[in-house]
Amino acid sequence: MGSIIRLYVPVPLARDCVIATTAAQAHYLAHVMRRRAGDALRVFNGADGEFDATIESIGRRSARLAITRQARAQEREPDCWLCFAPVKRDASDLIIEKATELGVSAIHPVFTDRSQTARVNLERFAAIATEAAEQSERLSVPDIRSSVDLFRLIETWPPERRLFVAAERAQAPSLVMVPPFQPVALLVGPEGGFAPAELDVLSRRAFVTIVSLGPRVLRAETAAIAGLARMLASPETD
Ligand code: SAM
Repeated sequence: MGSIIRLYVPVPLARDCVIATTAAQAHYLAHVMRRRAGDALRVFNGADGEFDATIESIGRRSARLAITRQARAQEREPDCWLCFAPVKRDASDLIIEKATELGVSAIHPVFTDRSQTARVNLERFAAIATEAAEQSERLSVPDIRSSVDLFRLIETWPPERRLFVAAERAQAPSLVMVPPFQPVALLVGPEGGFAPAELDVLSRRAFVTIVSLGPRVLRAETAAIAGLARMLASPETD
């Protein structure tokens, strides 16, 4: 039972309807997973829960899926954003995958003074997030937001959302678990860390809390994963 395929399908879902997959999903079903007409899978869309489905047909352009019954109702999920300064490609990919598994609702690539990466591939990030959501039995896929400059992010920040800024060697409180469903975000800096002027501006904002992840200097990807694991550890968010 562990190997049932789950697909994210951004279309309305209800019992007894028939939906069409993308060509990439049809290829994945037929040629990667060797599924045929009559085989079972599950689908979810981030709004209507998860449904059992049966493959009616598979062609080159699309597969037709017959939706049978609802297997899980849509659940309330944590409202936690990850804001991170993109690092090298493999490390950024790891951050997207693990942040999705841990349950973030949105991911913001943020350019800072010491960012070493000038561009990000948002489509690639979205594909990684979708695959991680399918694999981890989430009922949603996190929003991949457009990349933004740090100061622009701060100017447009919704004040009711607490922003925890991870800073190494700062005399700051430890990052702790947050109550379930509270709107929060974690900001992790680039390989070179935040510039002092950035930390100064951030620390003056009422919605910001500078936090520590312990005495060691972590790689950005470790900091993102360890920070989110702490914030999202509440059993009520399971
Ligand atoms: N180059 C910097 C240095 O040597 O001081 C280290 C930057 S660290 C590799 C990248 C990011 O991870 C930092 O900007 C921060 O957001 C986060 N980070 C790493 N270690 C941390 C810690 N112990 N506590 C909080 N944040 C940490």
